[in-house]
Amino acid sequence: MADGTMGRAPVKGVQVDVAVVGAGFGGLYMVHKAREAGLTVQGFEAGGGVGGTWYWNRSPGARCDIPSLFYSFTWSEDLAREWRWSEKYAPQPEILKYAEHIADRFDLRPSFLFETRVESAVFDEAAGRWTVKTNRGDEVSARWVVMATGCLSVPKTPDIPGADRFKGETYLTGLWPHEGVDFTGKRVAVIGTGSSAIQSIPLIAQQAAQVTVFQRTPNFSLPALNSPLADAEIEGFLEGFTAYRDMLRSGQSIFPSPPPDLRVQGEELEALKAGLWNGMGLMSLSAIPNLMRMPDLNEEICEHVRDRVRQMVRDPEVAERLVPRGYAIGAKRPCVDTNYYDTFNRQNVRLVDLRETPIATLTETGVRTTAGESEFDVIVFATGFDAMTGALLKMDIRGRGGRTLGEAWAEGPKTYLGLMIAGFPNLFTVTGPGSPSVLSNMISSIEQHIDWISGAIGWADGRQVRTLEADAGAQEAWMAHVNEVAQGSLYLDAASWYMGANVPGKPRVFMPYIGEGYKIRIDQVAARDYEGFQTE
Ligand code: NAP
Repeated sequence: MADGTMGRAPVKGVQVDVAVVGAGFGGLYMVHKAREAGLTVQGFEAGGGVGGTWYWNRSPGARCDIPSLFYSFTWSEDLAREWRWSEKYAPQPEILKYAEHIADRFDLRPSFLFETRVESAVFDEAAGRWTVKTNRGDEVSARWVVMATGCLSVPKTPDIPGADRFKGETYLTGLWPHEGVDFTGKRVAVIGTGSSAIQSIPLIAQQAAQVTVFQRTPNFSLPALNSPLADAEIEGFLEGFTAYRDMLRSGQSIFPSPPPDLRVQGEELEALKAGLWNGMGLMSLSAIPNLMRMPDLNEEICEHVRDRVRQMVRDPEVAERLVPRGYAIGAKRPCVDTNYYDTFNRQNVRLVDLRETPIATLTETGVRTTAGESEFDVIVFATGFDAMTGALLKMDIRGRGGRTLGEAWAEGPKTYLGLMIAGFPNLFTVTGPGSPSVLSNMISSIEQHIDWISGAIGWADGRQVRTLEADAGAQEAWMAHVNEVAQGSLYLDAASWYMGANVPGKPRVFMPYIGEGYKIRIDQVAARDYEGFQTE
């Protein structure tokens, strides 16, 4: 549903305190905080409604891989108490409803221009302001710009020969039609085996005549064991709500913080392995200390998971093809699934291993691999995103001296604390590269960042500071630290989207921050009058 901005006249000559790009969870909370502080704000959103990635990603089975009770904001206790999740892992429509509820509850929609894509943001050094321009001819001047543009919001263009030749139906999981897709009686190809594919394949297979899964790299997947949320679970969560919120605010959370440096073995290790099958998904994996720093331990866990796959898939050859190898569990984002492996026991599902028989080209009627051609009615591209930097680099962002963000990040993204960029004053990134971001519970990290950004704006405004900007030296030191803590971790060995390795030509840099105490650190920086930032 569009939010009433179709056919509107361009917004011109308007000056606001804060421009917010994106109406996902980050943009919604930022608008709320800015208005609460008495600031004028203009939000922009490319979609026809709020929800960000949950607005676009409507493929079958799409759901969160963090338990719903934790995939919730904590900044409003009323909101926490009045919203009720129906399932352990919330499905996409319900997460979208949660975003819509927040927008309505706090009357946030009037602050956004929907169906409006920001094309450029240019800093005027003399004025100390940003000019934001959109594809609808809007031109808005803002003192502050908050890029709440999401980490997984730009679907990757399928880099497959002949991708535009196919004459049948094609869909990208990251841009799914709002009216849904009926696969009944159809021959369907799914290309990719990341989270989006692993969630949708079991449901497509229930409907379609045939499904052929084209797999380049098998993924590790743990069972969601999804179920309705019992009243007692919700009540238990709410009883502990204040303590949970305080833990997040103090930076002492179990997630995103990595576990302490402990060696696990024997019975304790066996219990942790067994825990992988208890339905807590990524949280059970992150409970294994040093998983990403101890290759032998990691391999033991990999082998444990591989054995389970072999047990779940009846055809041993298919099972062997589905078994992930060659990278550590956790180094590519593991999936949380419902009936994924069991789906390969169905008569109408076939697996093509692209490592044995790569795609030569798509044709007008199907997919040709080195083993021959198969015809399809539908191709689903579950081929992923230009993660973490894609949405920012898609815009023409120009800082001091007209320098573009593309130039500043030519060798990979550089930020101070994942929050600001040297040379780009008064512009914030939400869960940007160099912060825990995609390796944390995103909604908690979004909340932390918006609180921090709001605090920084309030601090600067209270001191009549015209510009706040990351110091180049502080940024360099932070990036050196981000790289240093990543060294020796198994993340660096995998061709993952965390490394930018899934997009041809993208610099290979490990983008999230995996050190400890991030929240404590950014709060200290603020308490020390924004140490590492320059003001004018
Ligand atoms: P993804 O994890 O990047 O997976 C893309 C898949 O497409 C991979 O299997 C990849 O193979 C394959 N692929 C890409 N280009 C290809 C090509 N040219 N030929 C053949 N195969 C190709 O993307 P995603 O599944 O959309 O998930 C991205 C992230 O979004 C997830 O990791 C997760 O963080 C988030 N997400 C979360 C949920 C959830 O909450 N449960 C659901 C969906 C997405 P290679 O591995 O060989 O590159």
